[in-house]
Amino acid sequence: MTHSNFVGGQWVPASDGATFERRNPADTDVVVGVFPQSGPDDVAAAVAGVQAGYREWADFSPERRAAVLEGAGDWITAHGDDLAAELVREEGKTLAEARMEVSRTPLNFRFYAAEAFRLTGQTFPSADGSLVMTLRGPVGVVAAITPWNFPLNIPSRKLGPALAAGNGVVFKPSEVTPLMGQRLVEALLAAGLPAGAIALVQGGGATGAALVADARVGAVTFTGSYAVGKAIHAAAGPTRRTQLEMGGKNPVVVLADADLERAAQIIVKGAFGLSGQACTGTSRVVAQDEVHDALLARVVELAEQRVVGSGLTSGVDMGPQATAQQRDKVLDYVALGQQEGARLVGGGEPITDGALARGHFVRPAVFSEVAPAMRLAQEEVFGPVLAFQRVSSFEEAVQVANDTEYGLSAGIVTRDLARALDFVRESSTGLVKVNQPTSGVAMNAPFGGLKNSSTQTYKEQAGDTMMHFYTQEKTVYVSS
Ligand code: NAD
Repeated sequence: MTHSNFVGGQWVPASDGATFERRNPADTDVVVGVFPQSGPDDVAAAVAGVQAGYREWADFSPERRAAVLEGAGDWITAHGDDLAAELVREEGKTLAEARMEVSRTPLNFRFYAAEAFRLTGQTFPSADGSLVMTLRGPVGVVAAITPWNFPLNIPSRKLGPALAAGNGVVFKPSEVTPLMGQRLVEALLAAGLPAGAIALVQGGGATGAALVADARVGAVTFTGSYAVGKAIHAAAGPTRRTQLEMGGKNPVVVLADADLERAAQIIVKGAFGLSGQACTGTSRVVAQDEVHDALLARVVELAEQRVVGSGLTSGVDMGPQATAQQRDKVLDYVALGQQEGARLVGGGEPITDGALARGHFVRPAVFSEVAPAMRLAQEEVFGPVLAFQRVSSFEEAVQVANDTEYGLSAGIVTRDLARALDFVRESSTGLVKVNQPTSGVAMNAPFGGLKNSSTQTYKEQAGDTMMHFYTQEKTVYVSS
């Protein structure tokens, strides 16, 4: 089926008619849809439309704005079964993982619906009795640029707060998951969002870059890789705000006193859930000598037991990689790890037999003897590749865990709560998990990384702090 952009309040093709195709990553014979390949003219028209149209929305009362966001959530809930199946076909995760994402997304809209009521300012005592206060209003046009791995959940955490504050949004979903992006816009329009308050432009990096380059865009909210985040930050310049949520190289530290079975389950869930394609997924295990070998053996055993296949097939634990590039990247890192001198203990090969040969399937890979300086210990693979790092003390574990440019999530498995709390204090990550996988977060708690994982200024789901990103503040002086 051929799909459209939403520009100037209408569903339209790209102005030059260009398109791109998305195929099912579990079976590339299946076309999921054909989408507009948006060029600079489409982006300019989208921005112009939202700039002209958002004021109608900004004038909606908080009650009406909240009702639209809640209504979008209700639409997603009502279409939940279809959306979950489409999500599997487009992105590749398992049906259980897709259902979880579909059920999380309306909660984000509800969370931000409530924020529409909480946009407050301040008043200040003045020297001369005049009224001195701050007044908050929308930024205007917000650009939302998102990745493919949570194509409903992540955009809802951007569209929700941007719209709650009365902004208009130009939304550019990932070119890997354009259909899910379209569904979110359909949900909002069905719930009564004025057509001028939103635009959808489909396309890849060039489309995103054209959007950021448009000076009428007042704020850019982005989730994706560090390399792209850095480019967006540079392009936005010093006076336009950006909120960037980026990659991770997330470790689980396992201390000598840990319950090994529990540790192994936590690690495998964090490393291989979502086919290893979660920003908070576990990519390193930092294990103390005493438990390293037994833990490694059990993790390899559990990894080998994982059933890899199409996410729509029952009993499957792990779907394909989302794209051929992702699969090739995984295979390249598996080869690189071996060249660097790490030991591939299990997995890491493509699946090329039977029907699975038509998809981007790989077996989960586990490496040991991964030294801190190796690229396998430093670079984000964003796939099911797990690196074991051996340490001999708690202090060394902390040092190795923190030895990366990223700072998104870290975990520790131990029975010693005092040690766990030492780790919580010393971990250079924005999320710290004790006896839990590095992935998996509460929808109502602040989310974001440290170091190169995040701009850190406006954490997602951080209530009023987050809303400051989507509002601009004036200080007002009034004398009667
Ligand atoms: P990506 O950086 O390649 O792309 C993200 C988005 O940016 C896409 O929509 C893409 O089309 C767009 N884009 C690409 N080049 C651009 C440019 N020059 N200017 C503007 N936009 C551009 O990332 P991806 O492959 O879609 O997603 C995987 C990455 O996302 C991983 O690094 C992962 O860790 C990260 N991620 C982070 C979080 C988080 O919350 N921290 C969550 C999910 C994913």
